Amino acid sequence: MTEKMSQPNLTQLPSSIKISSVEWRIEYVNDEKSVNPDGDRILWGHVCWRDVTIRIFAGLRGNSAIWQTIWHEIFHILIHYFQLGVKDTEAFCEKMGVGMNDIYQQNFMPRTTVIREETDEERASKTEI
Ligand SMILES: [Zn+2]
Repeated sequence: MTEKMSQPNLTQLPSSIKISSVEWRIEYVNDEKSVNPDGDRILWGHVCWRDVTIRIFAGLRGNSAIWQTIWHEIFHILIHYFQLGVKDTEAFCEKMGVGMNDIYQQNFMPRTTVIREETDEERASKTEI
């Protein structure tokens, strides 16, 4: 059995997302240092209000992990848009991101397919005589 290396499939991830009529561009970067243009901290994701862009560290992360970061950043935007007055925004966004991603992955994403190599018997059974 061959397990595919966990790599993001960027074609399955959104390139933008509309939140309260604002179109946010989503940019996936492979260098974790370029997620945060301010460079003061290394982050998994970052909301750039100036560029209306959500930057996500893709690297070798699977799509589900990337989605979790997308949700996390969306909650940052919602806190700001709706002035929710959340005290510990990082803890809130982390927990809500995990929870939202769990719901999303279980209900709206296709089931994971296990990829394995064909056995010799299976290959032989397909051979025409
Ligand atoms: Zn955050």
